[in-house]
Amino acid sequence: MICLTFDTDWMRAEDMEEFLTAYPDLPRSTFFIHEASAGWRPEGHEWGPHPTIDLRKPSGLRAWQDPEAPALGIRSHSCVTSHLLSIEWAGAGFLYQSNETHLFGPGSMPFRTAWGIWELPISYMDNMDMWFGRNWADAPRAPFAEDVIAAALACESVYVFDFHPVHIAFNSSSPEDYVRKRASHAGGASAWTLGAPGGGTRSFFERLLESIRDAGAPTQCASEAVLREQGNGNGLG
Ligand SMILES: [Zn+2]
Repeated sequence: MICLTFDTDWMRAEDMEEFLTAYPDLPRSTFFIHEASAGWRPEGHEWGPHPTIDLRKPSGLRAWQDPEAPALGIRSHSCVTSHLLSIEWAGAGFLYQSNETHLFGPGSMPFRTAWGIWELPISYMDNMDMWFGRNWADAPRAPFAEDVIAAALACESVYVFDFHPVHIAFNSSSPEDYVRKRASHAGGASAWTLGAPGGGTRSFFERLLESIRDAGAPTQCASEAVLREQGNGNGLG
C-alpha cells in the first residue's frame, strides 16, 4: 500500500492551489499544513497540521486543531517529537502522528505507541534524499533513485512518501539549488515559476505518479492506512 503525504512548508495558499491544479488526478493524499498556508485546505484530500515546535521553548508549543474540520493526524516540522508531545497530541484528539523516519527501507506498518496515539512511519522523504550525501559523504546513494519506486510498488506493508510541494514546484535537485530558489520565492516570486527542467524532485515525483498509475498500485491517505490497521485489531506489536 502506498500513502502519499505532503508537508506544505513555505508554500503560500495560492502556490498550493496551483499544486492541486497541476495534479488533478492525484490519488487521495494527506497534506500536513505549515504555517505559511495555515488557512488552506486541500479539497478532496485529508489535512493535518504541520506545526513548528521549539522544544527549548515549551510556551511556543502549538498543536493546531480545527473544530470545524478536525484533523486525525499530525506531523511536526522536522518531525520533532517527544513522549510528552505525543501524549499532548493524543489528548488533543489526534488519532495518529507520522514522524518516525524509516527511510529507504521496505515499508512499515502503522503501530500503536504507548502514548495513546498511533504512529505511521515515513519511508521516503524528498529533502532527506537530497541531503543524504551531505550527511553521509562516504555513502554511494544517489538521490531520486528508481529503486525507491520499485520498493514502493513491491511493498507489502505501508510505504509512506513524504514530499514537500515546495521541492516539487522548484524541481529541487540539491540543497544548494533549493536554497537559491527559496530566496527568490521569499522575495515574492510564484513557486511554480522557479522550477527548471531536468532531474529533480518534480521529475521524480511525476515518475512515481506514472508508475503508480501504470501498475494500478493501491493507495490510501494516511488516516485510511491507520484506520485499516486499527480495524483489523492490529498494531499492538
Ligand atoms: Zn516541515
